[in-house]
Amino acid sequence: LTERVSNIENGDELSSLAQLFNELMNQLEVSFRQQKQFVEDASHELRTPITILEGHLSLLNRWGKSNPEVLDESLQASLQETRRLKGIVEELLTLTMVETHLDSEINEPVQIEPVIQETLKRFEVLNPEFVFQVNTEKMRDALVSISPLHLEQILLIILDNAVKYTMHDRRIVIVGQRLINEVQITIEDHGIGIPQDELPYVFDRFYRVDKARNREIAGTGLGLSIAKQFVHKYQGEITIRSKENEGTTVIIKLPMNQIIK
Ligand code: ADP
Repeated sequence: LTERVSNIENGDELSSLAQLFNELMNQLEVSFRQQKQFVEDASHELRTPITILEGHLSLLNRWGKSNPEVLDESLQASLQETRRLKGIVEELLTLTMVETHLDSEINEPVQIEPVIQETLKRFEVLNPEFVFQVNTEKMRDALVSISPLHLEQILLIILDNAVKYTMHDRRIVIVGQRLINEVQITIEDHGIGIPQDELPYVFDRFYRVDKARNREIAGTGLGLSIAKQFVHKYQGEITIRSKENEGTTVIIKLPMNQIIK
């Protein structure tokens, strides 16, 4: 792959063809490297719960039959690790699914305001200790070409994080508005925030801010990378602003299809 077609000099057409070929090869190389990195990262993430599971099974095998305490503890831990494994595999599948189906379908323009409202209603029920302040009136007449199911998935990832990474001030503010050619949804929490130097990496696969801080909070580090893939699939943009100990705001912009007259 690293060999280059660089000796062709006879004629402009051929040299531009050679240039194109080189560019394509470069892209392929980058893509292969990323793929390899992905497999390495995924294997690494899967190995941890498997090693823990193995440890507990071995404990069970040795002591579990005679010691009810070991039996109980190791069974609980094994169950927890199995759930974690299942979570990682499901998220990996979602991620590859979004990537392979990029640009493959055309979606009817839909009014997204009711989708946001519905998603929030269901999320609120599950998180009664949080206060949700919602203002989406300004996007009521906006239509966006997006699968409502995918929008829901994006919103749930962001909302889930807002709840997970909040300790005290349990207000979450959701604002939806129409800009010139796009709609903007912002989800603001008042949680633990993200240090400035870690912000550039939070959309990377498997990235979790300060693993020690996060140990108590369940997660795989895949949520935001899935959300980003979904948003990009619809030619949108997702950004994040945050201040440690103050809170985090996620901003989603999606191209607006049209306005209801
Ligand atoms: P995870 O499964 O770990 O939540 P994500 O990809 O959704 O993975 O997020 C990556 C990391 O970014 C998280 O581990 C967390 O450290 C940080 N993060 C994401 N959202 C927030 C938020 N609302 N507040 C504080 N930290 C956040």
